[in-house]
Amino acid sequence: MTYDLIIIGGGIGGSALAAAMARAGRSVLLLEKSTVFEDRVRGEWISPWGVAETQRVGLYDVLRAAGGHHLDQHISYDENREAAVSEEGALPLDGFVPGVPGPLCLGHPHHCQTLLEEAGRAGARALRPVTVESVSLGARPSVVFTHEGGRETAEAPLIVGAEGRQSSLREAAGIALHQNKPHHWFAGLLVDDVKGVRDTRQTIGTEGDFGFLTFPQGGERVRVYGGYALSEKGRFHGEDGPRRFLQAFRMRCAPENEAIAEGTPAGPLYSYFNNDSWTDEPFAPGLVLIGDAAGWNDPIIGLGLSITYRDVRIVSEILKETPPGATPDFRPYAEERAERMRRLRFAGQMVAALDMEFGEDAKARRKRFYERSKEDPTLGIHLAAVMSGPEAVPAEFFTEAHRERVLNG
Ligand SMILES: Cc1cc2nc3c(=O)[nH]c(=O)nc-3n(C[C@H](O)[C@H](O)[C@H](O)COP(=O)(O)OP(=O)(O)OC[C@H]3O[C@@H](n4cnc5c(N)ncnc54)[C@H](O)[C@@H]3O)c2cc1C
Repeated sequence: MTYDLIIIGGGIGGSALAAAMARAGRSVLLLEKSTVFEDRVRGEWISPWGVAETQRVGLYDVLRAAGGHHLDQHISYDENREAAVSEEGALPLDGFVPGVPGPLCLGHPHHCQTLLEEAGRAGARALRPVTVESVSLGARPSVVFTHEGGRETAEAPLIVGAEGRQSSLREAAGIALHQNKPHHWFAGLLVDDVKGVRDTRQTIGTEGDFGFLTFPQGGERVRVYGGYALSEKGRFHGEDGPRRFLQAFRMRCAPENEAIAEGTPAGPLYSYFNNDSWTDEPFAPGLVLIGDAAGWNDPIIGLGLSITYRDVRIVSEILKETPPGATPDFRPYAEERAERMRRLRFAGQMVAALDMEFGEDAKARRKRFYERSKEDPTLGIHLAAVMSGPEAVPAEFFTEAHRERVLNG
């Protein structure tokens, strides 16, 4: 079988690209290895600039129809101040990107399933579960795979690697993955029966040896994350881990977290060490990588979905503009992505240093940061990169001089 495009990996990036290209009239084969999408504690919060990317690729309405839930307010709690003071500083979330009412939340397995179905509806041949047996790249790319007991060989001028962090296509093409050092542990859990909290308000905060983030999914369901020191490996291991994890949300500085601590675990608790990775050129003859396969950002700033949707938008634009028979030029994608990831790596490092370091020195640094930010709002401008997009902040704020000013000023 010959297609215009073969996409390996039917998660967020792969299914979104399949839908976009099938809608543009291209023949697309989409291969997903799982039988069902499971909760692996992945992204469920799309930043306003990522929401704008979903609009540009024409998938926003699909996500809303699937239950996508907008948030409208943010509160940063901190052990250095009273809860009432933090709550007075509540931030509205509708002003970061024109035409976007705020971040959008949607459960990750349901999000993947929605996009996979949309790809099928748009005309892509979406197959699961599939085992990819071998891939040839170069001038005549092809894939050998098994599906429902049958073995098939498919060819296309281009294969897209959208298989997430452990991309075997990246490896097959010899594309090096650079990684920085892990900064902290980061665990996530879905919680039900969270009663009495506003379901359109996200919160973050740090107290003692724990930093938290909460993202309501609508109703009484909330996705929560907690960060803790690298030295505390195994802190939430064991059968009682989820319960102990929820207890860690009980904080003097954030009384509303009581409702989280009283909630019911509604999925697995997984811990990851947080770091960044990147590739210099996420393409090779016959191959382009998108999403985590091309390198990921520290999840502390929750941008993997936004990054992936931008990849989908740029790659689909290049493919649509490439005349039939011509080789797509992915250099502009590589250049934009390199600078995008550099800036977001910087923003993630600032947030991790401020919110996910613990002890008296870290507490004093956060106190100084909050006090000085009142006089000089540019100290927190890296947060605008998180909400409005990396290009929304001038280049001089992604420098060592700025880092020094924020963290050691
Ligand atoms: C703890 C944590 C929290 C996060 N929180 C956020 C957040 O709040 N907001 C945010 O924007 N991002 C967040 N992220 C990041 C976000 O989840 C990812 O960046 C995003 O899911 C990447 O999408 P993707 O399509 O590249 O990969 P994935 O979503 O991982 O999809 C890859 C797909 O490829 C399939 N696959 C793999 N190998 C093969 C194969 N050989 N053949 C066929 N199929 C294959 C997999 O089954 C999967 O369906 C978080 C990440 C972590 C780890």
